[in-house]
Amino acid sequence: MITAKTLKLSLKSLKDFAKKRLPDEILIQLDERDECPLEIVRHMCDPDKLGIQLLFIPEEFGGMGGGAFDVYCVCEEMARIDLGIATAVLATFLGSDPITVGATAEQKKLWLSRIAEEGLLFAYGATEPEAGSDLGNLRTTADRVMQDGRVAGYKINGNKQWISNGGVADVCTVLANTPAGPSWFIVEKGAKGFTHDEPEDKHGIRLSNTAALALNDVYVDADRLIGGVEGQGLNQAQAVFGYTRLMVAAFGLGGGWAALDRAIPYSTKRIQAGAPLSEKQGYTHKLIVPHAARLEAARAYIEETAQRIDAGSEGSLNTEGAIAKYMASEAGNAAAEASIQALGGYGYTHEYMVEKISRDVRITTIYEGTSEIMEMTISRDRWQLHLKTRGQHYHDQARELEALHARHPEVGAGAAALALHALAEVMEKARLGRLTRYQHILLRLGELIAFAECAGSLARRAALMAEGKLEEKASRRFDAAALAALSRVFAREAALKVAEEGLRWVAGAGGVSVAEMALFETSLGLPAVHQAQAGLISDMDYVADVLYGRTTKRTVQAA
Ligand SMILES: Cc1cc2nc3c(=O)[nH]c(=O)nc-3n(C[C@H](O)[C@H](O)[C@H](O)COP(=O)(O)OP(=O)(O)OC[C@H]3O[C@@H](n4cnc5c(N)ncnc54)[C@H](O)[C@@H]3O)c2cc1C
Repeated sequence: MITAKTLKLSLKSLKDFAKKRLPDEILIQLDERDECPLEIVRHMCDPDKLGIQLLFIPEEFGGMGGGAFDVYCVCEEMARIDLGIATAVLATFLGSDPITVGATAEQKKLWLSRIAEEGLLFAYGATEPEAGSDLGNLRTTADRVMQDGRVAGYKINGNKQWISNGGVADVCTVLANTPAGPSWFIVEKGAKGFTHDEPEDKHGIRLSNTAALALNDVYVDADRLIGGVEGQGLNQAQAVFGYTRLMVAAFGLGGGWAALDRAIPYSTKRIQAGAPLSEKQGYTHKLIVPHAARLEAARAYIEETAQRIDAGSEGSLNTEGAIAKYMASEAGNAAAEASIQALGGYGYTHEYMVEKISRDVRITTIYEGTSEIMEMTISRDRWQLHLKTRGQHYHDQARELEALHARHPEVGAGAAALALHALAEVMEKARLGRLTRYQHILLRLGELIAFAECAGSLARRAALMAEGKLEEKASRRFDAAALAALSRVFAREAALKVAEEGLRWVAGAGGVSVAEMALFETSLGLPAVHQAQAGLISDMDYVADVLYGRTTKRTVQAA
């Protein structure tokens, strides 16, 4: 268990270290040289120095026993520093996950203690040239080596592609097909036949080493099969998705805020047409405010999911991890892209950093499952809930938010409820018209689900903040009034998006006739969704004032 105080101290040491060792000039040089600063990565992982690894290792193996909430906080902070370094440091966490969830007691003791004591760097070797999103297409094989009638070890053959830390890791977990199916193996650097290519020349996260791996008759003893039973690999990979996707979600969040936090101060100093850009509403309300709202919606979802994972009673929360990753990585990318625009020509150059942040954060919609795979995962799972509850799943959630709205009319719960009711109606029309036979409809539903669920989360978070009940470790950048305003901005966007885009896709797939259209529009609550937009500009003004430190505290009215 990590206390809020310890976490705060760890985050502070991380920030202080970055300030000293990784100023902008150094980050820009390393990015231009396409170089992974291995000495810095090792310093961060060294138990006698920064020891970031210790946060994630259970106490019984010499770590600090951090949970998902701690991981999210550290990942966000790391991403704010540099997403390449964040990837290099956190690859150990990802790479050792198959051990954490699937290893035998002896394997856990050996490897997790070694990470804690020696600061071992790991890589996670799942992806192959022919198996990316579709890991079922795995070609790497692990053939049994028999001795005296028992399995003494395995010979591994195959290739891995795009492996973070691939060229620098001390240990790699490798997914390979055994006779009984995909399984994870622990392969150490220097094993005979185990080689890596030159680092990839990437668009972003150039401070992270990414390399292809080749395994030619690499022999490992049988005790390197994680869990000691063949065929558990895909289940073990699935078991950590909730967690690992949350990490990448936090990367998206950190990257997005890192960019906005450059654009905001820049715009207070840049004078155009006689006044700072920060005072131009057409600037702030396009390039800053909506991105802050989306990022905070993603944060609310990340924090709720992290708390549920840490509570430990609901399984691996894969779908929630997918929603968090999807929302935060898409919002992070949009925020970074807007930040380039916000700095104009300067934003387009290396020196001002937002261009680098934008290239870096781009990876978050690709690795650990692309956005499209996230849309599919989200949609398939929630589709089952829709069917199981005879269409009531999202109506029920909407009713809970209506009850919240009655208690806290200022937190945007009313508009979030409109989004969820509309979502239930869109899904029901899709069921009646059998529209999920169109893959595009299935994936678009994934997007609408993510927006509607995140709107609910942010409204709940704003209510918790108002009641003084927010988790002690949670971010407190915004006070209750500001969070409520951010929530109202986002909930309006979500409601409009779900209702209008839902209508678009249902109609586009032939799920509603011209004669039924007016009725469908009513069932989506379109008039109410449109009415809920009232007050949007004033809320955006308020959020802008908060972001630019122009407010005195206020209590905000109901939307
Ligand atoms: C910098 C970097 C670091 C990485 N680090 C690691 C690592 O440490 N370990 C590791 O194992 N892997 C790692 N990866 C691999 C990463 O997880 C994969 O790149 C990712 O899962 C996508 O696989 P792919 O590249 O083969 O793309 P593909 O699966 O070929 O996808 C290409 C495009 O098609 C879309 N698509 C795919 N399938 C479908 C479908 N069924 N329906 C609709 N659209 C679809 C995708 O969304 C994507 O837009 C890394 C990748 C990069 C670039």
